[in-house]
Amino acid sequence: MSSVLDPLLRRALAERVRYYNELGIYDFYQRGSAGLESAETALAAVHADSPSSIPTLPTELREEMPARKSAVVATVAEQKIFEISAPKPEYGTSDPVAALKLIREDLGDCTRCKLHKQGRKQIVFGVGNPRAELMFVGEGPGADEDTQGEPFVGRAGQLLNNMIKAMGLRREDVYIANIVKCRPPGNRTPERDECETCSPFLMRQIAVIKPKVIVALGAVAAKTLLAINAPMAELRGHWYDFRATKLAVTYHPAFLLRDPRQKKEAWKDLQMVMKELGLEIPAKGPQ
Ligand code: SF4
Repeated sequence: MSSVLDPLLRRALAERVRYYNELGIYDFYQRGSAGLESAETALAAVHADSPSSIPTLPTELREEMPARKSAVVATVAEQKIFEISAPKPEYGTSDPVAALKLIREDLGDCTRCKLHKQGRKQIVFGVGNPRAELMFVGEGPGADEDTQGEPFVGRAGQLLNNMIKAMGLRREDVYIANIVKCRPPGNRTPERDECETCSPFLMRQIAVIKPKVIVALGAVAAKTLLAINAPMAELRGHWYDFRATKLAVTYHPAFLLRDPRQKKEAWKDLQMVMKELGLEIPAKGPQ
């Protein structure tokens, strides 16, 4: 249902709430009636500093949406905002190791989305340097990851290791995580509701680690993080501002195993990342 709301609006609202959180403000009160009006009021508040930049809601929402549908949209938006705005246990520490531990404890034996009852062996939280400058975000655990409890340990993981090595880094230098932390059955693509339910925990991991660069591996990671629905050909090759971090998109290693011809393109993406991180670019890419 949340797809009905403009992704830019959702991101803008979330950013504003996060800004208030950083100022120590966690409680929000809503004036006026529920529904589309409240969404537009909130939107206007988000853009209060520059009223001329206030985007308008799509015509579908503005004029023709029945009252019941608009009420649902507002409810979803409010749920997401309050989910983000609640103080988190890790806010009490500046130590990323302790903070990640607190996030993992908060996740618990998670049953928040339906993936918990579809054959997962364990939750795959994330692995690597809690102070990493570079973070890789994939889609979700596969069979090997589900068994070992660590992301990217199968064949795709070996290729990711080679990619990291070709960049002059070690696996333990970076942090690796996924959009969803439980294996989708049959390695299917995680569904939108699963991504939306699980990804707030990833966002908290990112907020703690504060990497200089995030590399989204594949379309699911890119689209979830950026709230942009575009093909990989358009997503790659650019820098995106993602909170206080720069984000680049490249192919998922599992895709590169299926289509090795694209490794050259992926290497170009990684060279862009290396340049940003001030790493020396070797002549030879990953094998
Ligand atoms: S995928 Fe994420 S939200 Fe869903 S059950 Fe697993 S840990 Fe919880």
